[in-house]
Amino acid sequence: MPQMPWLNRAATASEAVRNDTDTPQRLVTLRNVTLKHNSTPALRNVDFHIDRGEIITVVGPNGSGKSTLLRAVVGALPPSTGFVQRNPKLRIGYVPQKLHIDPTLPLTVRRFLSLPHKVSDEQAQAALEQVNVTGLAQRQMVGLSGGQFQRVLLARALLSEPDLLILDEATQGLDQPGSAAFYRLVETLRRDLGCAILMVSHELHVVMAASDRVICLNGHICCEGAPAQVATAPEYRALFGSGTQGALALYRHDHDHSHEHSTSCPDDCEQSHEDNILRVKT
Ligand code: ADP
Repeated sequence: MPQMPWLNRAATASEAVRNDTDTPQRLVTLRNVTLKHNSTPALRNVDFHIDRGEIITVVGPNGSGKSTLLRAVVGALPPSTGFVQRNPKLRIGYVPQKLHIDPTLPLTVRRFLSLPHKVSDEQAQAALEQVNVTGLAQRQMVGLSGGQFQRVLLARALLSEPDLLILDEATQGLDQPGSAAFYRLVETLRRDLGCAILMVSHELHVVMAASDRVICLNGHICCEGAPAQVATAPEYRALFGSGTQGALALYRHDHDHSHEHSTSCPDDCEQSHEDNILRVKT
């Protein structure tokens, strides 16, 4: 296994993850990762890393391996080949795309924040303040608006003082201003807390603006880089169309390239060669 400089540093310094340093600190490394579900590869030869303080967005059609990548990052799925290395003291906060709460279950925001680990009133209040929803503590979870609900999920993720915050389609169901406000908040959190943020989102126009680095995935990494670079990359345009004017770009697919996967449609999509449109079922 190759030597990882940050691992050496972690072994000799108790501050391993949460220290203050001017040099970027590697939190997670994936090296040449291939990951199979039932012998079918969902990810192939993926090289990827996350440094402290970065905002990284993963984009790709349905079935392109985004969730699989997140699960590999958190260690929920072991790679078939290659390796995943995490800073040994890495703390991860996770914001799911949905969380079903039984509408008949009385559950206040305050109680929810203490699940699964009990937190003090002060900690709960501080977390709610960080996501700008002070005053919700005694409200019922089922009575929250979509935007409030997602912020409470975010508050709960922050309670673990994460080095890496993972947002899996965290703004699904929010309207565009709601999503934009949510991602502005995410940028503020990165600035204030210094954590890295790894996001999966379909809202290309919003998340790309908020990202330092974009990874365009379709079973393998098609292209990656700064948002402006990726938006003009042929591989990105092949998957999302030439416009980045919003989620609609997701529904366009120009067959003017010889992308490795252009002949096969990712799972959960229907491809029409008549109108050259890739329809992604959401
Ligand atoms: P995305 O998040 O981009 O929609 P996924 O990572 O969920 O993509 O899925 C990538 C591929 O792996 C798809 O073909 C999907 O059907 C398959 N897959 C995902 N999870 C499983 C699983 N638990 N068992 C079998 N196949 C899976």
